[in-house]
Amino acid sequence: SILISYCSTPDLHSPGTSGWRTRVRRNENMEKLQNDYLFPQIEMRKMAHIEQYPDAKLISLGIGNTTQPVPEIVASAMAEHSWGLSTVERYSGYGPEQGNEALRKAIAEKVYGGLGIKHTEVFISDGAQSDISRIQARPKVTVAVQDPSFPAYIDTAVIMGQTDGGNNNIVNEDGSTRAAAAGGGKSGKNIEYMKCNAENGFFPDLSRTSRTDIIFFCSPNNPTGNAASREQLKQLVDFAMKNGSIIVYDAAYSAFIGEEADDCPRSIFEIPGAHQVAIEISSFSKFAGFTGVRLGWTVVPEELLFSNGEPLIKDFNRIVTTCFNGASNIAQAGGLACLTTPEGLEAIRELVGYYKENAKILMETFSWLGLRAYGGQNSPYVWVHFPGKTSWDVFDEILEKAHIVTVPGSGFGPSGEGFIRVSSFAHREHIIEASNRLKNLL
Ligand code: PLP
Repeated sequence: SILISYCSTPDLHSPGTSGWRTRVRRNENMEKLQNDYLFPQIEMRKMAHIEQYPDAKLISLGIGNTTQPVPEIVASAMAEHSWGLSTVERYSGYGPEQGNEALRKAIAEKVYGGLGIKHTEVFISDGAQSDISRIQARPKVTVAVQDPSFPAYIDTAVIMGQTDGGNNNIVNEDGSTRAAAAGGGKSGKNIEYMKCNAENGFFPDLSRTSRTDIIFFCSPNNPTGNAASREQLKQLVDFAMKNGSIIVYDAAYSAFIGEEADDCPRSIFEIPGAHQVAIEISSFSKFAGFTGVRLGWTVVPEELLFSNGEPLIKDFNRIVTTCFNGASNIAQAGGLACLTTPEGLEAIRELVGYYKENAKILMETFSWLGLRAYGGQNSPYVWVHFPGKTSWDVFDEILEKAHIVTVPGSGFGPSGEGFIRVSSFAHREHIIEASNRLKNLL
């Protein structure tokens, strides 16, 4: 009988057969995440749509993925560096984990000139997303995020166990709690949502926001496209100072802030006092077309101290040298060409201008349709309100009727319900075609 039972259920007992399990427990924090990360969920619906309508010319204005080529001068610098690696004279292996000194200096001078940032405070990364995760290597801190916001802040916090012991409720601005959205459960009591909507100028009411250790703040914001004003950022820095909190400022879209928008800082370090309360994460992805090349940076000022007086930069350096072995030297050669040659700087300006013109066309389209659209001016994203409808319903309707992929606003937080995010990262002809389809079909 032992033999029979063995033979009838071989998969339960035989290592290597289907269904056989290891004895390793799953990280329970993974179970607290939303069913799926937002973008894979969109991808699934997109693939199903393609299967249903194989001849439809699908336009993707969803995931903020760049479409325009890397400027030639930048690509040439990377090609040149790459060829150099095939020679004995110019081959190089591991570089400094913190990044090449020349690039650190270029960022300190060109991006933060006059703001008192030393090149030794600039850490080159393989993109903003990686550093968002790496700074979470510190469990059991309380975290505040804008609602809506880029999902990576919350999801990485949840994976790292910041919600351990949490009750899966969302903390409101007034300190009360409510159940997380259906299918959610991604928020715990250690994560505070700071409501940012059209009514409050997309800036939280800080007088009703609880103290947290970390405050994630993204400007220009993904998804709302709103760039915070100097006055608002001053309030944020003062709030962090009063509470002894650290701001993690995501400036991935700062290059989209136009010169005419002189009231909207491009860096948190334009605000007095920020060097003692903030780090800034940024990226070459969107302004240089580096989404696939992978390059970013994080600024950690020496003046930023933990409660015991130890500088945060010391630990950040330790994390970077332990968890990361430095960005690709080829990508760094490209980054250097972006910032240190007049042609590179001009090419970036043109690239950003191209997407901003796309955003303008989208803004005009939604306004023509009588819909309220936000952002789109200092940002590549347009945030559109569909009162009385759910975000996923609008997403499905636009996909079904116009064959256009957008992003449901509810994926960015409870305050995103009823909105969709439309990305201007697309070829101009696709933007024009999308605009025509939306005008005809909605
Ligand atoms: N931060 C924000 C606000 C983003 O929207 C994105 C990407 O879309 C990132 C960070 C990630 O950028 P990177 O490509 O540098 O990892």
